[in-house]
Amino acid sequence: MKVSQMYAPTLREVPAEAEIPSHQLLLRAGFIRKSTNGMYTYLPLAWRVIKKIENIIREEMDNKGAQEIMMPIMQPAEIWQESGRWGVYGAEMVRVKDRHGHEYCLGPTHEELVTSMVRMDVKSYRQLPLNLYQIQDKFRDERRPRFGLMRSRDFIMKDAYSFDRDIEGLDKSYQDMYDAYTNVFTRCGLTFRPVEADSGAIGGNGSHEFMVLADTGEAEIAYCTSCDYAADIEKAELNVVEAPEEAEQALEMVETPNCKTIADVCAFLNAPVDKSMKAVAFSSEKGLILCFVRGDHEVNEIKVANTVGVNEVEMADESLLVEAGTVGGYMGPVGLDPEKVTIVIDQSVMKMHNICCGANKEGYHYVNANPGRDFKPTFVADIRLAQVGDPCPHCGAKMEKARGIEAGQVFKLFTKYSKAMNATFLDENGKEQPMYMGCYGIGVGRTMAACVEQSFDKDGIIWPVSIAPYEVLVVPVNAKDKESWDKAFEIYEALKKAGVEAVIDDRNERPGVKFKDADLIGYPLRVVVGPKTIKEGNLEVKARKTGEVSMLPMDSDYIATIVDMLKQL
Ligand code: ATP
Ligand code: MG
Repeated sequence: MKVSQMYAPTLREVPAEAEIPSHQLLLRAGFIRKSTNGMYTYLPLAWRVIKKIENIIREEMDNKGAQEIMMPIMQPAEIWQESGRWGVYGAEMVRVKDRHGHEYCLGPTHEELVTSMVRMDVKSYRQLPLNLYQIQDKFRDERRPRFGLMRSRDFIMKDAYSFDRDIEGLDKSYQDMYDAYTNVFTRCGLTFRPVEADSGAIGGNGSHEFMVLADTGEAEIAYCTSCDYAADIEKAELNVVEAPEEAEQALEMVETPNCKTIADVCAFLNAPVDKSMKAVAFSSEKGLILCFVRGDHEVNEIKVANTVGVNEVEMADESLLVEAGTVGGYMGPVGLDPEKVTIVIDQSVMKMHNICCGANKEGYHYVNANPGRDFKPTFVADIRLAQVGDPCPHCGAKMEKARGIEAGQVFKLFTKYSKAMNATFLDENGKEQPMYMGCYGIGVGRTMAACVEQSFDKDGIIWPVSIAPYEVLVVPVNAKDKESWDKAFEIYEALKKAGVEAVIDDRNERPGVKFKDADLIGYPLRVVVGPKTIKEGNLEVKARKTGEVSMLPMDSDYIATIVDMLKQL
């Protein structure tokens, strides 16, 4: 490829909406262009990276016996109604009608479609296990598309679906995918960590996310400083926090004017914050949910939704609170009507004594409220968010937090879809059984962006060789010097012949301009050919990653040396 012909329009200024390095650099270096909100065109350089990531994925999937297919993007509403998700998949799902008025969605994921196919074709245990995957555009009308390819509305996903006879089979398929993902992200040169993830209504320890570690990541991870426990903050389990025993005092309502926050109340009543209770109100498809945690703890929405058995919770409006007989800023569990509101109390609150909490009356709090005696929960559960310093649920050592980019997720579905959609097979005894399923996704564009997020400097992107758009850039520096100019072309041709993905910067530009673009785009190796180096009998080779410059004698087998250097990077 000649740079003079390459469609890689670099930018001097990036739009202000590009907030993180990967988004800025991919725009600046001419890899992607925005078409509209949350939608991007992959230009030739990006597309080469994408294809390399896809090929790594294909190799690792095929290696585990998964088979590639391609399903339609548009899916009929009926199968989503069968699984029960047409109603619960909210505004994120793009729905369209055809000319006959039939409803469809643009696939945000493909469990329904693959299950509706496999149930027709697979009838016997002999046809299992089966793992089918595709690499395809997905559509999700994200509430907040941002960060370029990280959270877009149209994005490329590798999605795989496994079908097994039983749980043991599912466990093996899951482990295979876990291992395949580990290989994929390692080969893409990423620093990542598989973490336990929330598996929603399905429950159990049936999911891991592959988190690429980066400060700009949208996800938070809690990890143990001693053992290898690590979990998405949404999932991180917490043990009960004990409180010292003490005698129960009489419940008393006290006036607390203008004390709307925990800090205000505790200061006003001179009460320790760990003897107070914080309330958070959510609305859900099951109505109002009032959650209570210790004053210095935070509520984890995902745990609340899982505890109550709802798909999603949202912050509740004041009007809902008033209907339930309470008021914002003064919510408490004492005296609430369990018919009108679901009361979810954190497990650690149940160990507390003589608690200070809202009195459901503007300007008033209770002191000395005691669980059991003064209030009864609908649910007691672990509903709090892990904090730095919380004990690890496995070994008790302190936990830390880090940020990550979720590049992939593996998930045990068990029989959720096969039961809802009647995907069964006949076992050895001729008995009908539901298939055990798993689903496995990798965001291909997000993986590319995550790679940039982990590997750049002030001058531009630093691609690992495995997914770099090209491997070597040859830079002739002086168009007026025919000898070195021709030599550069000769080297470029020789590199291509040796199987190296080479580019030559044949533009009549100053060397400084060429070097700047080379660094911005991030070619792993740059070979400079100019009158001076040629006269000295050398080629100058610079590694983008280390900045190391090597002089290769012209009378040596420098092509072999360059090939070797690429392998070492
Ligand atoms: P997130 O929590 O970040 O919204 P998700 O858990 O909804 O992601 P999955 O359904 O697990 O995503 O999809 C599999 C993979 O697809 C994710 O691990 C991620 O890499 C990628 N992905 C999901 N949503 C997007 C998006 N809006 N833009 C780009 N990639 C995405
Ligand atoms: Mg996910």
